[in-house]
Amino acid sequence: MSRAKEFVPEVEQVLKSRGEPAYRLGQVYNALCSGLARDWEEATSLPKSLRAALQEEAPAAVLELTQLSRATDGTRKYLFKTHDGHLIETVMIPEKDRRTVCISTQVGCPMACRFCATGLLGIKRNLKAREIAEQVFVAARDVAPERISNVVVMGMGEPMLNYKELMLALKVLNDREGFGLAARHIAVSTSGLVDKIRRFSDEPEQFHLAISLHTPFEEERKEIMPVASRHSIAELMDAACYYVETTRRKLFFEYTLLAGVNDQPRHVEALAELLDHPLYHLNLLRFNWTDTGYAATSKPEAKEFLNYARELGLSATLRPSRGQDIDAACGQLAARDLRPQRATIPLVRI
Ligand code: SAH
Ligand code: SF4
Repeated sequence: MSRAKEFVPEVEQVLKSRGEPAYRLGQVYNALCSGLARDWEEATSLPKSLRAALQEEAPAAVLELTQLSRATDGTRKYLFKTHDGHLIETVMIPEKDRRTVCISTQVGCPMACRFCATGLLGIKRNLKAREIAEQVFVAARDVAPERISNVVVMGMGEPMLNYKELMLALKVLNDREGFGLAARHIAVSTSGLVDKIRRFSDEPEQFHLAISLHTPFEEERKEIMPVASRHSIAELMDAACYYVETTRRKLFFEYTLLAGVNDQPRHVEALAELLDHPLYHLNLLRFNWTDTGYAATSKPEAKEFLNYARELGLSATLRPSRGQDIDAACGQLAARDLRPQRATIPLVRI
């Protein structure tokens, strides 16, 4: 039960002070991660007096759901308030045979990528493992009786800067006695912190990894991603190579097409050289509008970029953008609760 101990230390304290038997911790962990309890009254496997004590001292929900927005394409966005008053966002994207939750790991983000709304916020703090995992639990309650099939760590924040809490949350999501989602259905995206990519490669679970590359050229990358001044593309590719050699898993390179910035034929040509490995996959997406001065490459031009990439032998896809009408698409999460409310549905207790 060591994972439960780390995940809900406050609960363990309550159990200890009441002299509860050891198996109770497992029951509580199960009620949260599998039963998706948001109120201890729902945890009917626990004795009434214990439920009351927990209600007082260690609430079942650490995040308060303050708004739920629904896009015309079915994408849903959850706005949460943390116990210390910060706002974070989570997105659930339904597809034919999938339900993907996109979760946040930090309040804001310190990486300051020039095109990203979260990057404009700066960083307030790291989220705790419980706050990271609870985003998935809430989405899972929301979509029930359907199930969450995938989790992507592509919301607010640079996950690798919050490594310990990130990994604990992912292990709980993966744990059979926790949320029980296969590791292959969980993916983390990083702006490219090389030490952490190596560390991630050595983890025993088969979590997937995506690296935000956005251009194959050093100087251009420095302009749009300050992290590029810390690690050169050569260093990044060394770490990428370490990942695929160690795990033998596919590695995804995220590439946001910015009009006139990184969407020229010369970019495709350089990418074809840089990503010359059978396990590398190029994931193109068009820029989603943020107030950062960038513009999206048109759909036909994005298609052309994709076709040229394939022609040059790259394994590549162009990802459709989802949830744009509620600012829920990649890079748009900024938890600006002052924005005029659109498509907001009444708050239901989920
Ligand atoms: N912080 C992580 C996860 C971020 S979101 C990272 O940077 O990798 C997932 C992807 O969306 C990243 O590749 C990110 O660079 C990209 N992105 C950021 N802003 C965007 C925007 N406005 N439009 C499209 N993609 C964007
Ligand atoms: Fe942070 Fe990712 Fe946005 Fe860059 S793209 S500022 S790393 S959230």
